[in-house]
Amino acid sequence: MMELATPDAGQTAGSIPADGRRSVRRVAIPCIDADTIFDVTVEEGLFASIQPAGERADSAGPGGLADVPTLWPAYTECHAHFALPPNFDDSLDDPAIMAMQYLYHGVAHVVDMFGFPLVKAAWERSAAQATLPYPEVVHCGYAVTAMCGYDGKIGHGSEFPAPVFMLGGKHDLDVILEGNRHLGATFLKVMFTNGVEQPGGSPRFSRISPEMLAALAQVASARGISCVLDCNTRDEVMLAHHFGFRYFAHAVRDEVLSDADWQQLSGSCFVSTLSGLRPMVLRREEFLDEYGRPGFSDTQDTRNLDFVAGIDEPFGIKRNCQESRTRAVETMRQNSLAALERGMLLTGTDAGNSGCFHGYSLLGELRLLSARPDAANLPLQTVATVAGRQFFDRMAGHASPAHPLRVGAAATFNLFSRHGHAAGGLPDATLIRGIPVDRQQVVKTIQALRASPTQGKITL
Ligand SMILES: [Zn+2]
Repeated sequence: MMELATPDAGQTAGSIPADGRRSVRRVAIPCIDADTIFDVTVEEGLFASIQPAGERADSAGPGGLADVPTLWPAYTECHAHFALPPNFDDSLDDPAIMAMQYLYHGVAHVVDMFGFPLVKAAWERSAAQATLPYPEVVHCGYAVTAMCGYDGKIGHGSEFPAPVFMLGGKHDLDVILEGNRHLGATFLKVMFTNGVEQPGGSPRFSRISPEMLAALAQVASARGISCVLDCNTRDEVMLAHHFGFRYFAHAVRDEVLSDADWQQLSGSCFVSTLSGLRPMVLRREEFLDEYGRPGFSDTQDTRNLDFVAGIDEPFGIKRNCQESRTRAVETMRQNSLAALERGMLLTGTDAGNSGCFHGYSLLGELRLLSARPDAANLPLQTVATVAGRQFFDRMAGHASPAHPLRVGAAATFNLFSRHGHAAGGLPDATLIRGIPVDRQQVVKTIQALRASPTQGKITL
């Protein structure tokens, strides 16, 4: 772990002086200015100063820029479900473990896209007892979806083990928004997809009517509630955009969007979520490779490794969607990269879906989005940190979020020992609200919970 210097000699990263002061000297902060190095001081958990300390070019030794440590805001996970089980045996890890899974990977902010109220009490109880600082969570309560249709199809979301609100008529809108507000929600998740993955595919779900979606847009806007739309197809996204919606929980998966499409969708953001879809199509070797990076065994239930080692063929073959889902993932990837180029991407995983793990899979998502997984990718890293954090703040109800790295803001950041760190690399050190995260303590906490009578699992 990289040490964070404190003003007093002899202090280590793990100990905080009484006034909470510490400093990080001569670091690159590419999301502020890629050509400058900075000195940063932290007091009482906040950035006290972020001062230029020279030119990057001047500070490079014989090793070049590679030797300059780099500071980024901590990662934000823009699409997760705390109350859904990522484990292949459908077990749900204790929220106390999920908090550690995020800390380990340098993730300090998580947007929960429905279900959090189910684990909220357990999360708050363990946070109150924890010695490590917990990530911050913003959530939408329960999602809104269509009624079961007269053709027997359910609204998307009803198939998950978490409640959703079914929208029968306009009179339900106030009830739903009031119910979610009572649950602590600060935005609304709208399931607006009939489940089509390919052009010409047949619908899997019933869908909210356009008239109802228009009414929902009006009521949410009147209340100042941001909505995140769950859409699969280009047509669904276009229709939702027409009604004024701008935040989309996934990238479009049925068509590669054209330049004209992107122009029409200006002002929108799409969460990538490749990691949530891929486990359906991976083969045994691909699974073992995916879960073979540093951090999996330290943070996740390793019985998942035994499970995937025993897979004969991808789930998609058994469920007759291997080809269509493989195409959908590739299309989402292309649309995500196009969104990245246009400043319209957010990075998130859909963790809580089978095989998509809290914390771990977010770094995997960045690798999937990087042209060269072992190289630095400044635009992508900026999206995963700065844009993600601003999205989090918007979903928390702030109309115009500020840059997370500024004097007076909470000192929440990751340090990487080399400038050339890979996209999706593990940080060398993490500070959350001025408090260093001791990764060894994180691992011990997880191990202790897994060794307890509950094996670190909860049932809802
Ligand atoms: Zn989701």
